[in-house]
Amino acid sequence: MGITIETIEPDASLPAASDVVVIGGGIIGITTALFLAREGISVTVCEKGEVGHEQSGRNWGWVRVMGRDPGEIPLGLESMRLWEDMDRLVGGDTGFTRSGIVYVADTRAKLAEHEAWLEHAKTYQLDSRLLSTREIDAVIPGGKRAFAGAMFTPSDARAEPQKAVPAMARALRRHGGTVLTRCAVRGIETAGGRVSAVVTERGRIACQRIVLAGGAWSRLFLGNLGIDLPALKVLGSVFRTEPLDGPPTHAVGASDFAFRKRQDGGYTIAHRGASVAEIVPDSFRLLFDFLPSFVRQRHELRLRIGERFIEEARRKTSWSLDEETPFEQTRILDPKPSAPILEEAKRNLIAAFPAFANLRIKESWGGLIDATPDAVPIIGEVPRLPGFFLATGFSGHGFGIGPGAGRLIADLVSGRSPMIDPKPFRLERFSRLERTTRAG
Ligand SMILES: Cc1cc2nc3c(=O)[nH]c(=O)nc-3n(C[C@H](O)[C@H](O)[C@H](O)COP(=O)(O)OP(=O)(O)OC[C@H]3O[C@@H](n4cnc5c(N)ncnc54)[C@H](O)[C@@H]3O)c2cc1C
Repeated sequence: MGITIETIEPDASLPAASDVVVIGGGIIGITTALFLAREGISVTVCEKGEVGHEQSGRNWGWVRVMGRDPGEIPLGLESMRLWEDMDRLVGGDTGFTRSGIVYVADTRAKLAEHEAWLEHAKTYQLDSRLLSTREIDAVIPGGKRAFAGAMFTPSDARAEPQKAVPAMARALRRHGGTVLTRCAVRGIETAGGRVSAVVTERGRIACQRIVLAGGAWSRLFLGNLGIDLPALKVLGSVFRTEPLDGPPTHAVGASDFAFRKRQDGGYTIAHRGASVAEIVPDSFRLLFDFLPSFVRQRHELRLRIGERFIEEARRKTSWSLDEETPFEQTRILDPKPSAPILEEAKRNLIAAFPAFANLRIKESWGGLIDATPDAVPIIGEVPRLPGFFLATGFSGHGFGIGPGAGRLIADLVSGRSPMIDPKPFRLERFSRLERTTRAG
């Protein structure tokens, strides 16, 4: 059925030089460039396909602080602050609304996990709180499942992925940034021990700093530079409905479904407890890095072996800068969603909230999520390549924390003291990455 995402009019010509080049036009690349451009730094974004057409346009649109890894909470809060002002900042409509998020728990054990997380919420004075079984109905009426309780954060929010990043990219251009689409970056050049240029399919752009915000493609890009990024991809499946009145307007996450109201009156719906982990050659190469997270998430991941194994096994992993690269061969990652997972999500949802019984599916789609072994992003400068910054591995929650991450990366790139502590995101926490980055 596919997904409809807004597209932007790109800039036509490739600049000969730019202070900073950002590789990747997802929310991370675009917000990084936007904050740099606002400081008067010349910046060019190179996107191999269309702006916001991979993960950043395909996600659920949840913008939350609730449930975050404790190291990410400050980034989440800064992002919320930026989202709050986003429509004014970009002079457009991103669909941001503080509509509240509820995590319902089926068991007392799950509720106890939420309760443990509330300790972090207290530190930051968040409005997150537990709901008893009776209180749930007052907040999200119409539920028919016997939940043990819930955690609720009224200040959590949503935005519209199918238009938010294109709106940010238009603002970037108004601030003097250049946005090139259908312009894959093949690699980088160095001079005097520092980065000096990117080489794109359309020519070279001289620059002093480069940010790689390549999402699911970062590992492949870095592999060609001899850098071994520990990142795998997981398939998320989603559908959206025609406008529907009746179900709750807060976003709700249960063990086996998730929904949120959309600005167009419909709902974005998915299975919160099932993603497909396709077995590919990298699954074996990175087995030991990911083993703990596989074990932790074993009930949520459905292992599958299929076409992607052959596709990735055949894919070029090294190339010279004058030849066509895999980035030019796949402009937009548009994987098929899992029909059985979507069917299950719909069934579970209707059983739990019968107000969805008459839902009509308008679009369904898949998205490949890039994940790191600890599910925390990697943000920072590569030690052996001064001027080369990584901003990747957002592990299924980069839309919500995207603006704060973009602000942080812009601070690091421009040499300002960062507003948020970058330590939780440093790449040195992965010894494999440090080994390979220090080796070369
Ligand atoms: C189904 C699904 C549900 C999700 N739900 C949520 C949610 O509710 N809330 C939330 O916070 N997050 C969610 N996420 C995660 C979130 O969407 C991502 O973490 C975030 O969008 C990552 O942004 P990014 O800019 O790093 O990557 P992307 O948006 O994937 O952008 C990377 C871009 O880089 C480009 N690129 C790569 N290599 C090159 C190259 N060599 N040259 C030029 N361009 C290149 C790609 O074409 C791509 O457009 C979800 C993700 C999915 C798939």
